[in-house]
Amino acid sequence: MIQKVDHIGIAVHSIEKSLSFYTEVLKLRLIRIEEVKTQHVKVAFLDGGETKLELLEPTSSESAISKFIGKYGQGIHHIALSVHSIEDRIRELQEKGITMIDSQPRKGASNTDIAFIHPKSSDNVLFEICEKKGMEHGEEGYV
Ligand code: ZN
Repeated sequence: MIQKVDHIGIAVHSIEKSLSFYTEVLKLRLIRIEEVKTQHVKVAFLDGGETKLELLEPTSSESAISKFIGKYGQGIHHIALSVHSIEDRIRELQEKGITMIDSQPRKGASNTDIAFIHPKSSDNVLFEICEKKGMEHGEEGYV
């Protein structure tokens, strides 16, 4: 069902302030920065090999990331697992009694459909499942 850990989401106050730690200290390559308006976040993807790091900066107080930082501070926010046929996977999870935050996929960053599993169903770890809907910019040859 799960293809791999696609990325780990990390909530930050400011991508501008946090980015140099990842690029200059950890020497990770910045893939791209984009704004996901519907989610009220700006995201930066860093190349971690098989698994990317996704820095999430809130762009409005309505953002779930803003609420998360207000409650817990900056830090690891979610683990994203890539899947095929996200609608089928959501249905399978629900059939197993798992509560979904999203019972329908919504648009995530970089041409993906995403859905979150409610952390009450997963020992308080927020899992995202995501399905790539096309090639990502900056990832030539990646399908
Ligand atoms: Zn994510």
